[in-house]
Amino acid sequence: MMNVTLANGIQMPVLGLGVWKTTEGAEVEEAVSFALNNGYRHIDTATLYKNEVGVGAGVRNSSIPRSEVFVTTKVWNDDQGYDHTLRAFDQSQRNLDIDYIDLYLVHWPVKGKYKESWRALERLYTEGRVKAIGVSNFLQHHLEDLLPSVEIRPMVNQLEHHPYLVQSSLQQYCKAQGIQFEAWSPLMQGGIFGIPLLETLSAKYGKSIAQIVLRWNVQNGIVTIPKSVTPERIIENSQIFDFELDAADMQAIDQLDKGQRVGPDPDVFC
Ligand code: NAD
Repeated sequence: MMNVTLANGIQMPVLGLGVWKTTEGAEVEEAVSFALNNGYRHIDTATLYKNEVGVGAGVRNSSIPRSEVFVTTKVWNDDQGYDHTLRAFDQSQRNLDIDYIDLYLVHWPVKGKYKESWRALERLYTEGRVKAIGVSNFLQHHLEDLLPSVEIRPMVNQLEHHPYLVQSSLQQYCKAQGIQFEAWSPLMQGGIFGIPLLETLSAKYGKSIAQIVLRWNVQNGIVTIPKSVTPERIIENSQIFDFELDAADMQAIDQLDKGQRVGPDPDVFC
């Protein structure tokens, strides 16, 4: 499994398991343990997903030592602000019950609150309670507003990213700022499967459409967190390190971009 190195030197596995809409309890516990026992080293959850308890149990029940697993969670919009964020972090830590959190993210740029939330993340990081801190759904203008006032810069920005929403200029901006770009809904919540170019590439490389898109992510240096609870798909989505897309095909996927979201627009949602 490949890693990327965050600005503070922390290693982050380029592939993780997303668990949004995975049910708390047996479903999430089993998916997490299964993924870890089959090569994954990274799990992406959030307070919003209401499955942190099961994620923690899945990590503990797997055969992989805690130190080899990278766990992300996020502060939800209703919990933003300085004190609320600190309390939300405590609750997430209790839910997960895995000693420490690897990456804590501000889930959305809630207007008038995200700078205070960020100050709380800086404190948690300085106190050594989390290995890395970052943001999610921050567009360039949110970062341009936040960055001048920070003491510790965000190490990651997790954003919607798939062949119909490439966000090239935001990718370039994050790269220039030393902020790792991470893709949510990389499979467009299942929407990638009818795209003709991807069908052609699937036949050309002898790989599934999901594997083509996830390979496009990691070859671009983008961390990706596909969601599945189906054992065969969890394994399929991890078998992306044994082939390479050529430059023309990488570019052709980039050109599918339509600026089309499957999730909320950060400027409208917050
Ligand atoms: P996704 O793009 O990962 O798609 C998941 C869907 O694709 C599921 O319905 C699954 O059954 C299907 N699928 C998975 N692998 C497949 C395969 N190999 N073949 C066929 N179908 C397959 O969607 P997502 O869950 O929205 O995004 C992934 C993760 O990103 C989430 O679980 C969550 O952790 C994170 N996320 C974060 C935010 C945010 O605001 N930060 C928002 C949405 C999602």
